[in-house]
Amino acid sequence: MSIDLHCHSTISDGAYAPDVLAQKAHQNGASMWALTDHDEIAGLSLARETANRLGMQFINGVEISTVFMGVTVHIVGLHFDDQDSGLVDFLNDLRQKRIARAKAMALCFDRLGIPNTFEGALLFSEGREDVLGRVHFARYLHQIGLVSTIQEAFDRYLSDGNIAYVPGQWATVPEAVACIREAGGVAVLAHLGRYKYTPLQQTELLISFKKSGGQAIEVVTGSHKPEQYNQYAKIAMDWGFYASCGSDYHGLKTHEMMVGRVPRLPSNLNPVWKLWHD
Ligand code: AMP
Ligand code: MN
Ligand code: MN
Ligand code: MN
Repeated sequence: MSIDLHCHSTISDGAYAPDVLAQKAHQNGASMWALTDHDEIAGLSLARETANRLGMQFINGVEISTVFMGVTVHIVGLHFDDQDSGLVDFLNDLRQKRIARAKAMALCFDRLGIPNTFEGALLFSEGREDVLGRVHFARYLHQIGLVSTIQEAFDRYLSDGNIAYVPGQWATVPEAVACIREAGGVAVLAHLGRYKYTPLQQTELLISFKKSGGQAIEVVTGSHKPEQYNQYAKIAMDWGFYASCGSDYHGLKTHEMMVGRVPRLPSNLNPVWKLWHD
């Protein structure tokens, strides 16, 4: 049995619908599962319904986009009330910013002589402008044969600082944490190993996250290499954070950690689900 508290559906930048993901997570051995789309919770009811029918415990989830010291940081919210109006409004606001950013990204591509990328990206977001992100653009560039992999689209155009990169006007870390907490949820700092910070900046992030009410960090995630697990386990121990784990599955890469098939957390850590089981 495994536990997966981080993955993406077609509601954001994943390739599979919430019900299909639930089935995959179940087939892969998950006993507890959360769907965590970027800045959107519209997939939760279908995910929950399907998970419950399969006998899998479902946890409400979301992955919120924030900026800290100029770097995009993702805060995962778990086990919140998905009817909370503060959270719903907060996410609506973030998604409006996605529309403006996607238009600015399309303008970058226009200038590079690559037209119609806004419309192209929409082919991969079920026509929704407010969930558009870099992956949808990457998939379009792949479809028109400009790149041979999604990764190549990031490496050549979309990664932070690259020619078609437009920084998002996201929330702050304290705002996202407060919003999750006010909706009764647990705030989890996602994939710390991915952020390009100096050690001092990483410490600043951890201080800010903890001070604002953040309670957990991801230790075992598809976004960390296995050899990084111990490093983040130590941070969880040293800082008194609960530990979370999740595949960060998008269904787009061949070598992804599979949804629902996540290695166990080191046994000396306090797992994040203790917070809602106690
Ligand atoms: P956005 O929220 O629009 O900035 O897109 C962020 C998403 O892009 C992440 O959640 C990943 O799915 C994807 N992503 C970010 N960096 C990379 C990368 N270097 N290679 C592949 N996918 C990436
Ligand atoms: Mn993503
Ligand atoms: Mn993320
Ligand atoms: Mn993610």
